[in-house]
Amino acid sequence: MNEYDSNRIYDLAYEINYKKTNSLKEADCYVLNTCHIREKATDKVYHDIGRVKKKFRNKKKPIVVVTGCVAQAEGEILLKQEKYIDAVIGPQSYQDFKKTILDLEKKHIKINHTEFEVIEKFDKLNITKNSQSSVSSLLTIQEGCDKFCKFCVVPYTRGSEYSRSIKELINEAKQLVDNGAKEIILLGQNVNAYNSYGKKLSNLIQEISSIKDLKRIRYTTSHPIDFSEDLISAHSNFEKLMPLIHLPVQSGSSHILKKMNRKHNIDYYLNLIEKLKKKNSLIKFSSDFIIGYPGETDEDFNQSIRLLKSVGFINTYSFIFSPRIGTPAAQMELLNDKICKDRLITFQKIAADIKMEYRKKLFKKKAEVLFENRLNGTDSFFGRDKFNNSVIVNSKENLIGQIKDVLINSGNHSTLKGEIIKDETNREFAA
Ligand code: SF4
Repeated sequence: MNEYDSNRIYDLAYEINYKKTNSLKEADCYVLNTCHIREKATDKVYHDIGRVKKKFRNKKKPIVVVTGCVAQAEGEILLKQEKYIDAVIGPQSYQDFKKTILDLEKKHIKINHTEFEVIEKFDKLNITKNSQSSVSSLLTIQEGCDKFCKFCVVPYTRGSEYSRSIKELINEAKQLVDNGAKEIILLGQNVNAYNSYGKKLSNLIQEISSIKDLKRIRYTTSHPIDFSEDLISAHSNFEKLMPLIHLPVQSGSSHILKKMNRKHNIDYYLNLIEKLKKKNSLIKFSSDFIIGYPGETDEDFNQSIRLLKSVGFINTYSFIFSPRIGTPAAQMELLNDKICKDRLITFQKIAADIKMEYRKKLFKKKAEVLFENRLNGTDSFFGRDKFNNSVIVNSKENLIGQIKDVLINSGNHSTLKGEIIKDETNREFAA
């Protein structure tokens, strides 16, 4: 979502005559768009500002603005502790970006915009054309979260759930397709909680599916509890909807899920997976796991391992629990560091084995790959198959924006390698 926001911030900056530069030294304005989910996010802000300071030593300083969730959560402190920062703008106040910069051009003041004005934000941002021109483009459809998982800062930094109107989203999706997008990734902190005057995510997918030159639709990130029947059915109704679902579970233990306030247990989660597979047997899953959440016993951890194996996630993101200031879990007693590290190593080793097993099954099979870009100065092209696996092929023809059948020859945990299939006979589809 920060990538989407960064693009939109750039669109606003462009309207007041700023252009991107690859040379930090030449910047008149430096915008640091931050994420608070990451560990030590605030330290990284100070570190990055330190880098800017060094570059501009003995020179006129650029306007320095910190945006994003760190600005929201710790804006006041940032302004006080780091005099080099001129303004902080929270994620729900980007509509104030242009005015902030223009004000800062005129006079040296400190500006703090961290109000939750999400409706005003999107009303004003809609006027600015989305200039993103990637084969795979991002589209924020929903922001904020009302779930209040005990470990998570999002409800405090992005505010409560807000869904943009279907009409403005279709307009923006068309802009993206006009700019060259073949795939749109619908974004939201709780993307499947999308609800705009009764129109749900499945309705939005249906509408966007009808955009002729759009070939693929994905969405992320879903909460298991918001997986309604209509969305489950969408996975058999809409061909453009890709069959990889990122479905964060966080733990394989219902006891820990309760402590996290996740609002679902493991039976519910497994039942949902079964329902989705029944609708579309091609569907695969990826997930997020927190390892070493306060109170996690050996048995709780083993249940996470059992879940990992039984679902066979083709991709997982796993991290040791680390407290976020202001969240209820930050008050809880931490587990022993070594236990957490050992558990993470065990978990990631098994996850990597599962992933590699899955990938080996793709070898000598056909995959449909949408090509996104060319690798710097080579004849190698990068794309993704339907399951979001990265694929590289060599080609003399420019493949960017095209979907091609590729025979997968080899691969590792991060990338698959293949060749464009010319002869369509005798090839099996990868599933
Ligand atoms: S549902 Fe997701 S965004 Fe919302 S509080 Fe839980 S982890 Fe955070």
